[in-house]
Order: sequence, then structure tokens, then C-alpha cells
Amino acid sequence: MKYCIANWKMNMDSKSTFIYLDNIGKLVYKNKETFDKASMIICPPYTTLDLMSNILTEASKGILDDVDLAYVVGLQLGAQNVNPNNYGAYTGEISIKMLNQYGTEWVIVGHSERRSLFNESDEFVNLKVQAALDGAINPILCIGETLEERDAGRTEEVLFMQLKKCLKDVCVKKDFLIAYEPVWAIGTGKTADCRTIELVNDMILNILKELKCDIQNPKILYGGSVNNNNAENLSKICNLDGFLIGGASLDAEQFYSIYNALKGE
Ligand code: PEP
Repeated sequence: MKYCIANWKMNMDSKSTFIYLDNIGKLVYKNKETFDKASMIICPPYTTLDLMSNILTEASKGILDDVDLAYVVGLQLGAQNVNPNNYGAYTGEISIKMLNQYGTEWVIVGHSERRSLFNESDEFVNLKVQAALDGAINPILCIGETLEERDAGRTEEVLFMQLKKCLKDVCVKKDFLIAYEPVWAIGTGKTADCRTIELVNDMILNILKELKCDIQNPKILYGGSVNNNNAENLSKICNLDGFLIGGASLDAEQFYSIYNALKGE
């Protein structure tokens, strides 16, 4: 199974979310599609989790009046962040239990924007990974080097330390998603080339072995300026299991065409 994940970041209100899902439904219907061949996951801001959850639930029960919207059935819901605590004095935060209320199946942890803008450490990311797994939500762990680290030839060392700390005491029996997101490629229009991504993906798999990680099915995704012009080429990378997409995922047509490129159509 491949994974195509939209990270909407701090974008999209209720109205645009509704229109977006309606457009996805139209495209799915037009192409006589389902989401069986590859998973499509959307991580909206918290403010539209409720709306999305209601639409997805009603679509799965077949009780939606809107014909196009009904075709989003099978699309999965993710969150962009989580706090590892269940409740308490953590102003502005959200817990796993709160995400559970909306049928959230996935959560992004360790995104470079959380690391650089909100000073989140690998140790804190590790707590999030553990809390998510304990609460039956699948983490999408983001790792990646900065431009300075890459230029200094430190990519492997950086990924090793991130994986070592973020995956401490983690045990997973199902698919576990690791998004390789070189920081210099996020939102910059610069994409890592296919050969580099392939080598880094192998590097990540080797590091997991070296660390003796108890992860049965690691899946490696790429994120960093993926769009509908480069998706087809990137999707040919032999050891790539999917994409994490920021900017280009805000447009339903573009996100859908990246999804199709990923699953080989
Ligand atoms: C991201 O934020 O995870 C990301 C990959 O962003 P973009 O696609 O805009 O580079």
C-alpha cells in the first residue's frame, strides 16, 4: 500500500474544506476510483476535523445528500500535531483522546516546522510517537537534514540521531510511516533528486536495522516540494512508499493528480 498525504498546515476554512472534498469526490466519481490501491490521507487544521469527520462518517454510511461528496468514502483523516499528555494545563494543545473523537487515524509528528519554529526536540517527538501508538493513532514521523547539515556531509549522522531518539522504545507491528523531508526542500520549490531520495531511503532502512528497531513494516515517504509536475518522476523511485505534500495539496485537482501519479496511472 502506498500513501499520499496532504498537510494543509494553517490553511483552509470550513467552506473551502467542503468545496475541496466535493471536488475530490467529483474526480473519484469521474475516474471510477476508490481509495483501495493507495491510501489518501488529509491532515487539515484542527478547526475542520469535526466537519471532515462528519462528512467521512456520513459518506461511509451512504447517507450523504450531496452526490459528489459521497465518493470521498475511504479517504482517511489525519492531524498535524498532538501533545503527548491526555489532558491538563497545556494551553493551545490537543491530545490523542481529543483526536480520537473525530476518528483521526493518523498524526504528523516531528515536522521540521514544529522543530524549528516551536523548538520541539527528538525526545518530545518520541513521547508523541508513543502516545499516538498507545491511543491507536498511527504516527507519520518526519525526519530530515538542513541545508548546512547536507553541505557538511552530515545527512546520515543527522537521520541516525533523529531515528534513534524519536523511536526509542517504540514497537510497531503494522505499517509505520517515516517521511524523509529534507528541510531545504520544504516549501522552497527545490526537490531532492530521485537518486538522492533512493539512497537516503536505503540509508533509513539500514539505520532502522542498525538500531534494532522493533518496527515490522517501515514505509518511507518523501516530502519536499512535490507537485503535479514532478510527482510522476518521483513516484518511479523503487523504494518509495508515498508522498507527504504541503503546498500542492491545497488544490484538490493537483493533489488528486499527484495521488494518481503515485499509484501509477
Ligand atoms: C511539508 O510541509 O511537509 C511539505 C512537504 O511541504 P511542501 O510540499 O510545500 O514542500
